[in-house]
Amino acid sequence: MNKLPHIGTSIFTVMSKLATEHNAINLSQGFPDFEVDERLIDIISNRAKDNVHQYLPMSGYPPLLSKIAKLVKKSYERTLQPETEILITAGATQGIFTTILALAEIDDEILILDPSYDSYEAPVLLCHAHPVRVALNDDYTPNWERIEKACSSKTKMIIINNPHNPTGKILTASDFEILESLLQKFPEIIVLSDEVYEYITFEQKHISAHTREKLLNRCVMVSSFGKSFHVTGWKVGYLVAPEHLISAIKKVHQFLVFSVTSICQVAISDYLDFVSVEEIGPFYQEKRDYFRSLLQESRFQLMPCEGTYFQVVSYASISDENDVDFCKRLITEYGVAAIPISTFYANKKDLKLIRFCFAKNNATLEAAAKRLCNI
Ligand code: PMP
Ligand code: GLN
Repeated sequence: MNKLPHIGTSIFTVMSKLATEHNAINLSQGFPDFEVDERLIDIISNRAKDNVHQYLPMSGYPPLLSKIAKLVKKSYERTLQPETEILITAGATQGIFTTILALAEIDDEILILDPSYDSYEAPVLLCHAHPVRVALNDDYTPNWERIEKACSSKTKMIIINNPHNPTGKILTASDFEILESLLQKFPEIIVLSDEVYEYITFEQKHISAHTREKLLNRCVMVSSFGKSFHVTGWKVGYLVAPEHLISAIKKVHQFLVFSVTSICQVAISDYLDFVSVEEIGPFYQEKRDYFRSLLQESRFQLMPCEGTYFQVVSYASISDENDVDFCKRLITEYGVAAIPISTFYANKKDLKLIRFCFAKNNATLEAAAKRLCNI
């Protein structure tokens, strides 16, 4: 018995494991290798001595809920009711899974835009709903004609990921306007907006679903403190949604995790008093620019990167191997791990593109680039 017969082990797990086995520099799975902010480490160390080790309320640590409401107000001018519109989740992964499990019914169709992050499809299949994979344009902008054609009375949800993993693309105001007018024709469709990289954009500012008045009553927004505060292993994220949606999501959440790791919630709550999310974008922009400059002399062709901490490159002038084989050889022969982009497509389209994570110390980026420039 296997409820997900066509789904294998996540490519991030596969590549990280291979990187470890071959002692390669791991630019595959998206996580930082630099030190966590000392202030956050101090907070969690000191907080361990307090009475913070028992269950918290199911929706989340109340001060954390209030501080998220404050953050969303400051970042996007949106006013939230902390008790009824926010849910702390065990990372964005659990937020996405729980949302789909709570809202998708048998034979519903869920639109996923390819290339797409790998967490979306499995919960859809487990609900006996249908993932409808719609390809983005070649430049990774949404193809709204194709999207509209794919919408019908069966469509329950459209998942958007902005800023986009793996391509680093961000949605424009015009994309949102088209989405909003499309949704007017389909009043039942819910938007799941995966914005785990919301604070990692560069030249252009991120436009959050939080700022789109017409979406607010039908949108579940997903964020991740793991990504924003460089603590991916803590697995703390959150959902923001109107009460009629989040109450359905909480029904599932209470039986899936009940409440998320107490000390991590408390520490993040304290940290939010003085951390400045505005610094995250410039911090990663410097990393992006540095990594790109290091690869300038290589035979890889750099694709644009508007946000996230991923750089996609083409290896078409180096090899005609498929991208999975190329990534394996990159590890075994050159000692650098990357993610093949074909794995983000339902049809495994091989465009000779791979993804590097640049959320790394400069020394790591330099060592990796040195190897990559020798190919
Ligand atoms: N969505 C996207 C687009 C991601 O890249 C990731 C990976 N961090 C997640 C969701 C999951 O985030 P978390 O680690 O908070 O579960
Ligand atoms: N989001 C991370 C990435 O894209 C992976 C997280 C995971 O392995 N689940 O690399």
